Amino acid sequence: MTKGQKIEFKCVKDKCEGIITFLVNSMKKDPVLRCSKCGNEYKFDKELVSKLEMFENLVKAVSDAEPILGDTNVAINLAGHNIKVPFRLLLTRLSTVLSLQMAGKTVDFLFRVEPLKEEDLRKWGG
Ligand SMILES: [Zn+2]
Repeated sequence: MTKGQKIEFKCVKDKCEGIITFLVNSMKKDPVLRCSKCGNEYKFDKELVSKLEMFENLVKAVSDAEPILGDTNVAINLAGHNIKVPFRLLLTRLSTVLSLQMAGKTVDFLFRVEPLKEEDLRKWGG
């Protein structure tokens, strides 16, 4: 059992740039975070916590399905040729940044996940 992904975001207070790290699970119990650098307080509403949870589940589902992803292709028609792109390759482009509105500002939540490595891609003859 995993405790969940660590998520971090930059404090939105002008010029603070402090990094705030949290787990979605802990936000369900106590939805208030404080920037350790400037003391700015962030209260997460239910909707925000729920969106973060959904995204966390998505990231987890993708990483759990990794062993089969190399066998999956997406066919693309390009200039009359049918090209198969390994689904795995597309996943390296999967953003692990979720942008959400918080207190009228757009905050980028960065999910700390292991990115698929280039070496792994080469194994699939990409
Ligand atoms: Zn701050």
